[in-house]
Amino acid sequence: MNRMIRGGDGSHWDECQELHWDCKIAMLDKENLELKIQLGKWKTKAEDDAQEIEILKEALDTRQTVYDQLLRDYMELIHAKTP
Ligand SMILES: [Zn+2]
Repeated sequence: MNRMIRGGDGSHWDECQELHWDCKIAMLDKENLELKIQLGKWKTKAEDDAQEIEILKEALDTRQTVYDQLLRDYMELIHAKTP
């Protein structure tokens, strides 16, 4: 995996989130929100959908873990660069 950088200069491109920390966090944040919305919809459905709920929960948990770690690392980076 490439070393990630802060993408603050305004230059972005398709899949720049593989390099830009900010863009990766924003992408994961958006994906996590979408998963949370889907999860909310599944929760209103019948008991037959319980297995689907478990799949979405696992996907969200996995992404939330990645998101949380990226956010912690990012905040450490920002804090380290602040005089
Ligand atoms: Zn970017």
